[in-house]
Amino acid sequence: MSHVTVVGGGIIGLSVAWRLVQRGRSVTVMDSGGDEGAWYAAAGMLAPAGETAFGQDPLQELLLESARRWPSFAAELERETGHDLCYNATGAVDVALTGDDLAEARRMWAFREQRELKMRRLPPSDLRELEPALSPRVRGGAHVPDDHQVDPRRVVAALRAALADAVTTSRMTSLPGGTTVVAAGLGTAGLTGLPVRPVKGLVLRLRGEPGVLRHIVNGYVDGRHVYLVPRPDGEVVVGATQEERADFTVTAGSVLELLRSAVDLVPELAEFELTETVVRHRPSTPDNAPLLGRWTGDVVVAAGHHRNGVLLAPVTADLIADLVEGRVDPLLAAFSPGRFA
Ligand SMILES: Cc1cc2nc3c(=O)[nH]c(=O)nc-3n(C[C@H](O)[C@H](O)[C@H](O)COP(=O)(O)OP(=O)(O)OC[C@H]3O[C@@H](n4cnc5c(N)ncnc54)[C@H](O)[C@@H]3O)c2cc1C
Repeated sequence: MSHVTVVGGGIIGLSVAWRLVQRGRSVTVMDSGGDEGAWYAAAGMLAPAGETAFGQDPLQELLLESARRWPSFAAELERETGHDLCYNATGAVDVALTGDDLAEARRMWAFREQRELKMRRLPPSDLRELEPALSPRVRGGAHVPDDHQVDPRRVVAALRAALADAVTTSRMTSLPGGTTVVAAGLGTAGLTGLPVRPVKGLVLRLRGEPGVLRHIVNGYVDGRHVYLVPRPDGEVVVGATQEERADFTVTAGSVLELLRSAVDLVPELAEFELTETVVRHRPSTPDNAPLLGRWTGDVVVAAGHHRNGVLLAPVTADLIADLVEGRVDPLLAAFSPGRFA
């Protein structure tokens, strides 16, 4: 069996490499090193319902398939490495602050209900039973049981541990030759010419008393969207801005916008410590769906996962490992890297 080089050791490249090693392949991962990947900012929502978008049916199917694979992916990786990934299946709540926000949320809920995504609409009193820290101003919401979460930094640390002998620090300027999987996030554009562009995102990390929030909270707040992702140690990830820009500047205005929305939804967060602001860039494509498949000869691509690379890691890893071994899963058909040619 030929050796495989995986270019890019973010959450996608490492997941693919891990699956290949499990199948007995000899693998090298070439990564620039450090924490420059989008995974470092990612909140870790595994949200096939929350990420439903109009006109994205094949992507929706892929999100659902990957969500189904997450529990066993996490259990297996935890068993193999002894790392705790903080996989949490408590679910999410959608929350609308004003009447206009509720009208907007209802349009999205109707769309999800048409697609039979599990969801239960709730009046404010029931919502506050699920999440007592929510503001009394909240007008309505919904419980979304199948949107789960994991801590992406822990996932990457576990994958790096599982692949300790295979990961090499090197910023590649061209492809190495031989069987290669290009999973370099934004770096994929320079290595292949494929259209992967940066979409800037800022997240904040707050820290306070553990247990103030029990679920992921997705807020519709005065026309803005914000999410709050609570971790067991009292950290709350607040995200995220989305801008078609490539810079790393943390602007006062975007921090203000996220904090104002977060505190409007959960007033107690004003007492939390602001511990981190971090900007990274989602690797995105013209249709915001990933590039998955054979590009040229021995080169396979797994990139452009935009807002959902953490959620899509398990299914991407399985499908790309299959492809390297010569099996083409029908799920790949809609995501051909050549579809924009
Ligand atoms: C603010 C924000 C919030 C997000 N929240 C979520 C979320 O809640 N849920 C979710 O599912 N997704 C989320 N995402 C999206 C997710 O982070 C990305 O889709 C995912 O990280 C893509 O994984 P990747 O491995 O393809 O790319 P990256 O994570 O960007 O990793 C790419 C890797 O390739 C390396 N590399 C690049 N170029 C080269 C080169 N030339 N040679 C060698 N190595 C190279 C980089 O150093 C990096 O390690 C979020 C993203 C952002 C920015």
